[in-house]
Amino acid sequence: MIIIGSGAGGGTLAHTLAGSGKNILLLERGDFLPRETDNWDPRPVFVDGKYISTDTWYDGDGKPFQPQVHYFVGGATKLYGAALYRLRPADFGEIRHVDGISPAWPLDYGDFEPWYSRAEHLYQVHGNGGEDPTEGPRSEPYPWPAVSHEPRIAQIHDDLAKGGYQPFHAPCGILLNEANRPLSTCIRCTWCDGYPCMVHAKADADVIAVRPLLDRPNVTLVTGAEVTRLETDPSGRTVTGVVVTRDGNREVYTGDIVAVSAGAANSAKILLNSASDQHPNGLANGSDQVGRNYMFHNCKAVVALCAEPNDTVFQKTLGINDFYSATKDYAYPMGNIQMIGKSNAEAMRGEKPKLTKLSPEWTLSDVAKHAVDFWLTTEDLPKPENRVTTDAGGHVHLAYETTNDDEAFRLYGELRKILNHTGMAEHHVLHKNFYMDMDIPVAGCAHQAGTCRFGTDPATSVLDANCKAHELDNLYVVDTSFFPSIGAVNPALTAMANALRVGDHLKERLA
Ligand SMILES: Cc1cc2nc3c(=O)[nH]c(=O)nc-3n(C[C@H](O)[C@H](O)[C@H](O)COP(=O)(O)OP(=O)(O)OC[C@H]3O[C@@H](n4cnc5c(N)ncnc54)[C@H](O)[C@@H]3O)c2cc1C
Ligand code: SF4
Repeated sequence: MIIIGSGAGGGTLAHTLAGSGKNILLLERGDFLPRETDNWDPRPVFVDGKYISTDTWYDGDGKPFQPQVHYFVGGATKLYGAALYRLRPADFGEIRHVDGISPAWPLDYGDFEPWYSRAEHLYQVHGNGGEDPTEGPRSEPYPWPAVSHEPRIAQIHDDLAKGGYQPFHAPCGILLNEANRPLSTCIRCTWCDGYPCMVHAKADADVIAVRPLLDRPNVTLVTGAEVTRLETDPSGRTVTGVVVTRDGNREVYTGDIVAVSAGAANSAKILLNSASDQHPNGLANGSDQVGRNYMFHNCKAVVALCAEPNDTVFQKTLGINDFYSATKDYAYPMGNIQMIGKSNAEAMRGEKPKLTKLSPEWTLSDVAKHAVDFWLTTEDLPKPENRVTTDAGGHVHLAYETTNDDEAFRLYGELRKILNHTGMAEHHVLHKNFYMDMDIPVAGCAHQAGTCRFGTDPATSVLDANCKAHELDNLYVVDTSFFPSIGAVNPALTAMANALRVGDHLKERLA
């Protein structure tokens, strides 16, 4: 069995299959992310983009950009914020949005629930079930208690609760043992969201899923192995060769089953670049759906500045889903509000002109010290025209236009009300409310999903309910590509749970 890519999807799939004793070859284009002091330094991480790939992709107008993708063992999870949310039950059904319909999945929340529980155990998710009213039923409690709020966040929590909101402890995958801090792997530092973890205490796919397999005789990890193409037998039904570029050389690997888990854009790239006489539009692309329906959330980072300093270290502990579904004042869902990693002056340097205008008397350090940082997520819709294509040279072209901007705008409005409510506006550095917002441009493809959606109809989907390509007998896609819709919570736990689900199917198939 060959797995291409070692991130949330591929790494988790390898982990669950390893115990079967079957030979597993994990092909990863990156290497292990180096442990070095730069891991926790905002300048190399945020300003210099040290861990971002040097790829060039092209937008819908053919303009080149550097995508914020990360090629390492563990994939994007090496840098992720480890906010490990389940999709809400409603996300598996059809939802009416201001710009159209978010389609139903072929499986419902109940089908996914057992694998969500298993994924939460594997990735050591910390949380408190029952606090978030939008959460689905769970067969097991979170394996770890929620990460506690620091005083400033606890105060925001209490103010919100008093105001009738329903804030909850955000689910989080870090190896933190608050009951025994001296023995805790995680030191609860400020460098979590968007940084690699220098002490390997983040529950990423490298540390949790791949690294523990390296001693197993039936698992082989080949790094620096970029898969460029898949070849099939003359019938076109079976992948017979996985073509790799490694150290500038062409290598071909064979396996009875091939799982593509290269991330939504790169998985589509591999399939599209594998066109052949049998699959003239790209492998498994008779439906013309490969690469389409790319989603990455309509996101906004918002910094609220208060006169009162915010000395929170680990800030990502609070979530608000009061606007996740339609409300009495607005007929459409708006999305999720959560905290993000604490601002620091170095990382804010790129925003300096805006910030200086906002508070001319303050240095960036002052601004960072007083900032309270939020992340707003609105669902974007799977539009066929939002798509990955490749050109004659095999390069990725990513055409994307946002959807549900009105919902995102209203969610921002709700955040402003929340800030007023929590008394933050009173202490504001300016006399009127001021919030600095940063829209995330197309290059910020952290939450990329779609491109090979699963479904029951081969005419409108690429994969069947087991994530096997409709048109092939031994090809699976097991990363965020399979999402028919993306919901408005972070996607990694769903990719992990799905990898465990597909892993169980494959164990039966291989038995
Ligand atoms: C800064 C940041 C913060 C994030 N925060 C969160 C969060 O808090 N919560 C959350 O749920 N999600 C978060 N995400 C998103 C989350 O990391 C992704 O949704 C998840 O990792 C996607 O899993 P995947 O398996 O689809 O892809 P990835 O995890 O990216 O794995 C793809 C793998 O394939 C490899 N690969 C690519 N092309 C090839 C090729 N041609 N040949 C061989 N190997 C290849 C890559 O190197 C990579 O290892 C964040 C992402 C980023 C970048
Ligand atoms: S908070 Fe914990 S998991 Fe996150 S970077 Fe710091 S030590 Fe690592």
